[in-house]
Amino acid sequence: MCIFCKIIAGEIPANIEYQDDNFIVIKDIAPTAPVHLLIIPKKHLSNIMEIDSTLAGNLFTKIKDIAAQFGVQEKGFRLVINTGDDGGQTVGHLHIHLLGGRALSWPAG
Ligand code: AMP
Ligand code: ZN
Repeated sequence: MCIFCKIIAGEIPANIEYQDDNFIVIKDIAPTAPVHLLIIPKKHLSNIMEIDSTLAGNLFTKIKDIAAQFGVQEKGFRLVINTGDDGGQTVGHLHIHLLGGRALSWPAG
């Protein structure tokens, strides 16, 4: 089982900020911004290449809700989906980084 599946199953601890039937939101263990959340579909998908339109729609709707809940919708935030080796993905379970709470520089990487 991958590390995020273990967190979803309650086998290893995490700072869980929100969860429902389809998604879990945790604090990143190594935050790079005052708000650094990981929005994780509970279904194990290796990366964004495996997503379907239903999940994609639900995911973006959930991201909007989470952004509002964490108070970053006014000043803004950044979503990051690292994919594969060149994308710097280190955990092979689809997750979206939500970064906010400070002015972020661009371009990244
Ligand atoms: P990525 O590079 O997009 O695959 O990002 C994986 C992220 O997961 C990194 O930002 C890590 O800091 C984070 N991470 C890894 N293990 C844990 C964990 N047990 N709890 C919370 N965040 C984690
Ligand atoms: Zn998994």
